[in-house]
Amino acid sequence: MIKIENLSKWFGKNQVLDNISLNVDPSEVVVIIGPSGSGKSTLLRCVNFLEKAQRGTISIDGKVYTQKSKKLNLMRQEVGMVFQHFNLFPHMTVMNNVIEGLTQVKKIPKSRAVELGKSMLDKVGLLDKADTYPAMISGGQKQRVAIARALVMQPKIMLFDEPTSALDPELVVDVLEVMKNLAGDGMTMMVVTHEMRFAREVADKVVYMDRGRLIESGTPDEIFDHPQEQRTQEFLSRIL
Ligand code: ADP
Ligand code: MG
Repeated sequence: MIKIENLSKWFGKNQVLDNISLNVDPSEVVVIIGPSGSGKSTLLRCVNFLEKAQRGTISIDGKVYTQKSKKLNLMRQEVGMVFQHFNLFPHMTVMNNVIEGLTQVKKIPKSRAVELGKSMLDKVGLLDKADTYPAMISGGQKQRVAIARALVMQPKIMLFDEPTSALDPELVVDVLEVMKNLAGDGMTMMVVTHEMRFAREVADKVVYMDRGRLIESGTPDEIFDHPQEQRTQEFLSRIL
């Protein structure tokens, strides 16, 4: 579903991705772990073409995309992304936040968009908040709205960049539950997270990154219980 080949990226002279190759199969959940600054966010942003890599290729669902591709906007609709900070529009109701992309980008009539919005809000357990404003709901609820907003565009892939890192601990679990259900529904997902329990339970593959390199990848058991690389061992011993 996602094929990343020999991806390298520099910010100025600073190389932040160093020859990364990674495949994500349909319905697979890949969790990316690694220290701050190791390039995890940049990698996700490259997959969504929010950032441009200087070398390498990315294919989504069999189609190779380059920066020059005129289809980047279409491709972005196939890839939903959820960030640490939810970036909801404060002046819009929860429902209008969710359906903004449907009405503005996909030009779907409002009544149909509201129908789709309702089913997505239901999916994340927030149908009763449709008419409230972001300021009136918790951080965890805001993040679930952000997930609904991405899902309503019917992406083939969902990228999550530390979706629970900005949340109070007691609000994390509901967001992880929504993500777990999504994985159970067969969504292809790339998730950057420090929630190791989630990684163990939900990931098909765990990838350890350090200083722009993909150091090792494997099943949760392989990475958490039998890491092969010293850097992975040291990282895990610091956080577990
Ligand atoms: P992580 O998500 O693993 O913490 P990032 O992908 O955010 O890592 O960052 C990787 C490296 O790229 C860091 O050294 C960071 O300072 C640098 N970096 C990230 N974004 C930019 C940017 N827009 N301009 C310059 N350097 C950046
Ligand atoms: Mg990051």
